[in-house]
Amino acid sequence: MKYVGAHVSAQGGVENAPVNAHMIGATAFAFFTKNQRQWVAKPLSEESIAAFRENCEKFGFQAFQILPHDSYLINLGHPDREALQKSREAFLDEMRRCELLGLDRLNFHPGSHLNLISVSESLSRVAESINQALDKTKGVTAVIENTAGQGSNLGHSFEQITEIIDQVEDKSRVGVCIDTCHSYSAGYDLKSAEGAARVFETFDRIIGFHYLKGMHLNETKKELGSKVDRHDVLEAGLLGMDIFDFIMNDSRFDGMPLILETPDETRWAYEIKLLKSLIR
Ligand SMILES: [Zn+2]
Ligand SMILES: [Zn+2]
Repeated sequence: MKYVGAHVSAQGGVENAPVNAHMIGATAFAFFTKNQRQWVAKPLSEESIAAFRENCEKFGFQAFQILPHDSYLINLGHPDREALQKSREAFLDEMRRCELLGLDRLNFHPGSHLNLISVSESLSRVAESINQALDKTKGVTAVIENTAGQGSNLGHSFEQITEIIDQVEDKSRVGVCIDTCHSYSAGYDLKSAEGAARVFETFDRIIGFHYLKGMHLNETKKELGSKVDRHDVLEAGLLGMDIFDFIMNDSRFDGMPLILETPDETRWAYEIKLLKSLIR
């Protein structure tokens, strides 16, 4: 079974996210559990938590259909000790918010070495950050998203993601989210069905499908290997529909949130229908 949705707004309270998802015909959704551009957020209120759980139940969303995304400010591989600590605290807070909401996974970008420490040193810090957060929480899997590799961003190769996972102590609570736009920008040519088959064969060999906890289905404005992260709407952009057809007809992507992060939210209801229409 395929669960398709979008990264919806949680403005006015997290309890609005499942409502917004339902309104566009989604059977999966992503959202921020706090303002993604601020370090500190008020704790979730009892009322908000209860309303979120109630709305999820009402509209048929279970934890495995929901992929919350953490704040863009967090850098779990930060070269500076003090800044790293700040990121680790913020990440732990995000994991705890997911715990309170009854969610089972949190999607995040690994971080950046900022050209101040080596890639490996920074990846080790990411792993250590994950270990610390997993130690202090229960039931929430830390889901590493692959990136376009813009600037000094980590996680643009499957090898780098594996290097992080290798150093995570509790392998049952670490996972991966693959973003189609980021993959292409990072140099993975999944434009055609054959290309996609090759890329996911490589993914399975290097990381393993058992770690896959969600997908971001985005078109891209930037060419293969550009290392630039610019999402586009479906039916525009450079990828074309073959990759989405491939995903929608491959059972390895069953039972997980398939999330649109395409730039025009007025198209999401249409894009969800379009993706579902690809299923043969
Ligand atoms: Zn992301
Ligand atoms: Zn993404």
